[in-house]
Amino acid sequence: MNSQERLDFPFFKQEKLIYLDSAATSQKPQSVIDSLVNYYSYNNANIHRGVYALAQKTTDQFEMVRNQVAHFINAKKSEEIVFTKGATQSLNWVVFGYFARFLKPGDEILISVMEHHSNLVPWQELAKKTGAELRYVKLDQNEQLDLDDLLTKLNSRVKVVSIAQVSNVLGCINPVKKIASLAHKFGALVVVDGAQAVGHMTVDVGELDCDFYCFSGHKMFGPTGIGVLYGKYKLLDQLKPVEYGGEMIDEVDYQASTFKELPLRLEAGTQNIAGVIGLGAAIDYLNQIGLKRISKHNQEITELAFDKLRKIPGLKIYGSANPKEHHDVISFNLAGIHPHDAATVLDSFGVEVRAGHHCAEVLMRYLKIPACLRASFHLYNDESDVLQLVSAIKEVQRFFK
Ligand code: PLP
Repeated sequence: MNSQERLDFPFFKQEKLIYLDSAATSQKPQSVIDSLVNYYSYNNANIHRGVYALAQKTTDQFEMVRNQVAHFINAKKSEEIVFTKGATQSLNWVVFGYFARFLKPGDEILISVMEHHSNLVPWQELAKKTGAELRYVKLDQNEQLDLDDLLTKLNSRVKVVSIAQVSNVLGCINPVKKIASLAHKFGALVVVDGAQAVGHMTVDVGELDCDFYCFSGHKMFGPTGIGVLYGKYKLLDQLKPVEYGGEMIDEVDYQASTFKELPLRLEAGTQNIAGVIGLGAAIDYLNQIGLKRISKHNQEITELAFDKLRKIPGLKIYGSANPKEHHDVISFNLAGIHPHDAATVLDSFGVEVRAGHHCAEVLMRYLKIPACLRASFHLYNDESDVLQLVSAIKEVQRFFK
């Protein structure tokens, strides 16, 4: 990345903060911010209802973004793309709109111990509701998904395997394509939590052959409050709306209503129009820079950070010992220092990292730690950020000595 691209993000024009929390949310390029200002300033109209030209223009823009998203993740058609609030809502809709209809006692749900709460708590609730059993795939010795364990747990009772494509703590890429092909052999469907993958690497849902894929706009340079649920058309068509209201109906009578075709059937009420337009601008930006280039840059920065961090005495990195298996995320702890204390002192040096359980409490339990620190990287981070992280960590260690 050149310094010009860092300046595409107005956040970095202010007093220098070392922002290492892109796994929580990414910063936004000016073009995304401009698209929101432009929509609210000049194009603000509701969609799918007005017959006047502006409403039509905004509707067209909204639907163009749906096409753009379909193209971006290689969905077969734009009707397979539903806009949501974010990955959490997408996952909840899959769980309660689709699987709640079919699961019964004796069925099994398979997830992994590294799942984010958004891909874990809804399944717990569904298990309670339906009597299905929730089972976990564990990690191997390298703290990666244990594929052998997955294989031993796959059987004809498993109706769904739901897995993150990239872990928000360990940074590993899970072999979703392989998992999908194994799971399908047993008749199970595959749900992918792509929150940490989209915007960091090329995602091709056709190639992965997953059944549902969920992600958030705000982690891929887009606005907050917008997300995507992709589903294979036939399956998505069986997903019952979790919300009902305006715009998703065909006809409403006193006692009953009929509903629109996909995708509008799943988009009740006024949509986050600005969010969708901002998501389109984020995809334009990602395409302009190029996902290959972004992932190469991020990998270089992550490997550099890994190399420097592992040399710090008393610092323990979680996940693989191979830096190439950390995708833009490194989680670690400092011996004898609580991660919240460390993060507070790091902040006093302008270094922003996340501390806590990272919405992955089951993983913390599995690793037998209460919490950890996490540095996460994206396009705008550079070598100087890594060096400042390292020197600030040394200051933390001096401070708590
Ligand atoms: N899944 C993973 C792996 C995540 O990292 C996150 C957010 O941190 C989510 C799901 C939930 O995303 P959101 O809060 O945008 O719905």
